[in-house]
Amino acid sequence: MMIDDTYIETALTAGDQAESSKQIEKIIEFIKTPPKPGRTDHFIENIACIAGLKERKLEVRFRAVDMLHKIGRDDAMGKAWSYLHIISNDTSEPLRLRWAAVDALRVIKPEDVENMEKLPDMDDLFYRAVDPDNPPPRLSYHDGLAKIAEKQSRTMFIYPLIALFIFGGIMGTYFSYGKWFFQLIIAGWIVLVTGFIALSLVFARRCPNCKRFFARQSLKYAGSYNTPARPIGSLGPGGSPVQVSQRVDAYKVRCRYCHHPWFVLR
Ligand SMILES: [Zn+2]
Repeated sequence: MMIDDTYIETALTAGDQAESSKQIEKIIEFIKTPPKPGRTDHFIENIACIAGLKERKLEVRFRAVDMLHKIGRDDAMGKAWSYLHIISNDTSEPLRLRWAAVDALRVIKPEDVENMEKLPDMDDLFYRAVDPDNPPPRLSYHDGLAKIAEKQSRTMFIYPLIALFIFGGIMGTYFSYGKWFFQLIIAGWIVLVTGFIALSLVFARRCPNCKRFFARQSLKYAGSYNTPARPIGSLGPGGSPVQVSQRVDAYKVRCRYCHHPWFVLR
């Protein structure tokens, strides 16, 4: 049997899975057997094309991606690489196909995949604990930080209240010095502060989606930004003002139960 484009088409579209696998094995063997430098480029390009075509049946595209994976190299024009890259980056593609594409890329060009792994917005390609046919919603770095900002603006009103409470508390403590209940107030402060720290630690690890406690998994660095410069004083009278700006690191985390992503700041 001659290997040509028609044979490749037949192998990829065969209704019988076993027959298809057998023919695909033959094509792979033909492409991988030396010596014919450059002469199989056209076949690899053709298979890559079929993998990338959204009009094709999903099963056919899976077979094509799998074939590129098994061939494990690219043509001179980098056609396999570019099609696989487009598939893995296209969030409208089924996640299962994107996973297959990125796995094939890892064989063809591993250094590329290593770089993709560092990008927070691509972590759905590498976080494989989710159900690929029913994945949790994606969350980009930008949307993640926007969510934090929105939450902060909703709880903004609480800060003046806390400041007022602390001020009142300090005044109360000051005036109760020497009174019989002074120690009681100090004990109250200790309970309050430890309670507050414990609660904030517990709630920081709570999943915003399924609301389960201790759900947060390891932090994955996603990016950082600097807060606006804030004046904290000046270097003596007439001196230049001193400003501080804080570096904030953002991390992407996931729920260990429902695998929902969210961001935390440090
Ligand atoms: Zn959850």
